[in-house]
Amino acid sequence: LARHFLARMQASDLNAYTDINEALTLAQAAAADARLASGDATALTGVPIAHKDIFVTRGWRSTAGSRMLENYISPFDATVVEQFNAAGTVTLGKLNCDEFAMGSSNENSYFGAVKNPWDRGAVPGGSSGGSAAAVAAGLAPGATATDTGGSIRQPAAFCGVTGIKPTYGRVSRFGMIAYASSLDQGGPIARTAEDCALLLGAMAGFDPRDSTSVEREREDYTRDLNASLDGLRIGVPREYFGEGLAPDVEQAVRAALQEFVKLGATLVDISLPKTELSIPVYYVIAPAEASSNLSRFDGVRYGHRAANYTDLSDMYRKTRSEGFGEEVKRRILVGAYVLSHGYYDAYYLQAQKIRRLIAEDFRQAYTQCDVIMGPVAPTVAWDLGAKTDDPVANYLADIFTLSTNLAGLPGMSIPCGFGQGEKNGKRPVGLQLTGNYFSEAKLLNIAHRYQ
Ligand code: GLN
Repeated sequence: LARHFLARMQASDLNAYTDINEALTLAQAAAADARLASGDATALTGVPIAHKDIFVTRGWRSTAGSRMLENYISPFDATVVEQFNAAGTVTLGKLNCDEFAMGSSNENSYFGAVKNPWDRGAVPGGSSGGSAAAVAAGLAPGATATDTGGSIRQPAAFCGVTGIKPTYGRVSRFGMIAYASSLDQGGPIARTAEDCALLLGAMAGFDPRDSTSVEREREDYTRDLNASLDGLRIGVPREYFGEGLAPDVEQAVRAALQEFVKLGATLVDISLPKTELSIPVYYVIAPAEASSNLSRFDGVRYGHRAANYTDLSDMYRKTRSEGFGEEVKRRILVGAYVLSHGYYDAYYLQAQKIRRLIAEDFRQAYTQCDVIMGPVAPTVAWDLGAKTDDPVANYLADIFTLSTNLAGLPGMSIPCGFGQGEKNGKRPVGLQLTGNYFSEAKLLNIAHRYQ
């Protein structure tokens, strides 16, 4: 199996991987074979998977898509990686992503954009573009990914695969290179909800090394996959079907909703009135946290260091100027600004208050329904290069995914048909499922019945 995927990876032109190391992969595969032969295997022993290059991995490069960490090799494994290794999965490689997970198209990676396997002229989505493209193109049967404001769901949608962002606190952030710590959450991308359920089972779990990890019993996420959807109340938020939603996406999403009606569900008209505010709120809070998290990249402890400098300040300045890309610098500047004395109350504090109201919108909604469904993104994947000069256009495309993270809720993306590309052929559409806290097993059940 590992050899099969390695051959496909080496022949691929998608730029989905940032690190491939055949010797490491085959050694792990041999160990998995021995474990299978000994009878001490799990359901995932010998299953090849790949990790988003945000999870640190011993022996592999851990770059976060940044020049800052271009040659960085971590001395330890992220908890997620450690748990997968313990289950016996075989690491195929590290997957390309937007630099420090900042982006919606994977074009912010220092290692270059990833191509969408459905249409090589299109972006794969981001920031987990490598994870989604690799799964869609058969370069890995499953992958890890992270979602701070949509980075699992949106690339899964753009590449026609399935992804789940768990409830905040379900999956350990230890060893997951930090972007915005109060929003970051790891999860799997795979072809189906069933595969996601298996992968999530290995990924999730309490970790004392992550202070926001939630102490709950481990769960078997496959347990309810086949449960009936009879009587399921699906909330359809008015605000998700307004101006700005592309007609082809709306059509595919509405058709999917009708399939759920056939499966026994009822549609409930709901309102999430603060949806629009999720963009300004997120793009204040996430950069604020990022500016703090990224202060550790100073050229002293690890990562890139400028070659020539006069004194310590000059070393910091040159190191960070050279090591970070444009978008990362923009976020650091915005973040430092909104946290600064005199602006803190006007921006950061205000954003925190509205964040609370966004969570309250969902609390209200879940008194009327069991799950919320709508589009993952307002359009299908856009053309490579179409939005690279316009950061705000990228931010606006996150309208339907950000509020899930701001509220800490679990969300999924499942393929639900195709729309039209701007120039070329068809491009996938994703249906978003948002559940109440810790309802991952239910979301996976709903997705599985549809698939
Ligand atoms: N597109 C969003 C951003 O650029 C979300 C990224 C993510 O979820 N990591 O911040």
